[in-house]
Amino acid sequence: MKRVVIPFFLCAMLLSGCSSTRTGENGGDQQSEPWQSTVFAMDTVMAFTVYGHPELQEPMSQLVSRLESLWSVTDADSEICALNQDGQAALSPETENLLGKGLELCQRSGGALDLSIYPVVRSWGFTTGAYQVPEENSLKALCAAVDYRKIALDIQNHTVSLPKGMEIDLGSIAKGYTGDCLAEMLRQAGVTSALLNLGGNVQAIGAKSDGSPWKVGIRNPLGEGNLGVVQIKNQAVVTSGGYERYFEQDGKTYWHIMDPETGRPADNGLVSVTVIGDEGVVCDAFSTALFVMGLDRAAELWRGSNDFEAVFVDKNGNVSITEGLEGRFKPLDAYADSSVTVIRRG
Ligand code: ADP
Ligand code: MG
Repeated sequence: MKRVVIPFFLCAMLLSGCSSTRTGENGGDQQSEPWQSTVFAMDTVMAFTVYGHPELQEPMSQLVSRLESLWSVTDADSEICALNQDGQAALSPETENLLGKGLELCQRSGGALDLSIYPVVRSWGFTTGAYQVPEENSLKALCAAVDYRKIALDIQNHTVSLPKGMEIDLGSIAKGYTGDCLAEMLRQAGVTSALLNLGGNVQAIGAKSDGSPWKVGIRNPLGEGNLGVVQIKNQAVVTSGGYERYFEQDGKTYWHIMDPETGRPADNGLVSVTVIGDEGVVCDAFSTALFVMGLDRAAELWRGSNDFEAVFVDKNGNVSITEGLEGRFKPLDAYADSSVTVIRRG
C-alpha cells in the first residue's frame, strides 16, 4: 500500500510578527506595515513580507517566473530541459552562474550533492508522483551515469554539455539562489527589512523593522510543533528533511533526498538538517548535502568551511548545532528541555 504525502511547503516559518516602524522622511523607505505577496512557483508557495517599496512586487514575481522558466525540468522550453534532451545547451548568464556555483558546491560536498542525480530521483517517481521502489539493477545502471564532474561547463563560450545518458536538475539549489537574487534586487532598491519564504527556504533582508533579529522557526522533523527558533539578520535559513516529500510502501518510508552512492534515499542517521548562512544557494545546497553525509562527515565539512552554520536532528531526536549558533538557536516545544550538543572547531 502506498501513502502519498503532499510536500510541506512552509517548514520554516516566521515565529514573531513584524513590528511597526516610523514613516521615513520622504515616505519611501519605511512604513508602519509591510506589504505581503504570495507567488506559486518552483513547485512551492513563496511568501514575501517587505517593508516599503511596494513597486517591487511585480518585478519580484517576474524575476521568479523568469528563473523558473529557465530551470524547470518539466517545461520543454527551459534551458535545463533543452540541455537534458540534447546533451548540450547555450546558457543564459543566470543559468551559467547557478550551474557554476552548483558544481563548486557539489565538489565541496565530496559528491554528496550531485546535480546529475535527476534520473535516479525520477526512477523513484518523485518527479511525477507515480512513486515506486526501482529494481536494484536499474538503480545500479542509473547510478553509473551520475557524476557531476562530467558536467562540462564552458564559461568562455557560455555553453554546457553532458555525457550520454546524463540529465541534470537544479532543484536542490534553485530556490536558495532565487532567494539570493530577490534579496539583491530588494537591497539595491533600498529595502532594509524584508523576509522572503520560498517554500521553507527563508531569506532575510536586514533585521526586523525595530532592528531586532528575525526569528525563524525550524519544524520538528519527528512530530508536531517546532524544533526551535534561530535568530538571523541578513541571512538565509534552509532546511532539508526526510519528512518533506516522501511515500510509504510495505511499511517503509522513502524520501526525496538521494544518496548518489546508492541511488537510494539517504539514510545516514539524520532526519533534518538546517543550514544558516549569508548565501541562500550555499544553504540550500548544503542542507541537502549534509543530510546525505550524516553527522560526522557533515561536521568535518563545516570545520573546513566558514560560510555556514547548521542544526542537525538525528533519528533519535538528538539535536546538535555548530558553535556559531550558540546564543542564536533556542530549542522549543518538545525540545525545550533537551540538551543540545555543540559541535566545535577545535
Ligand atoms: P526541497 O526542494 O524539497 O526543498 P532540497 O533542497 O533538499 O529539498 O532538494 C531536494 C531535491 O533535490 C529533490 O527533490 C531532488 O530533485 C534533488 N536531489 C535529491 N537528492 C539529491 C542529491 N544528493 N544531490 C542533488 N540533488 C538531489
Ligand atoms: Mg537543497
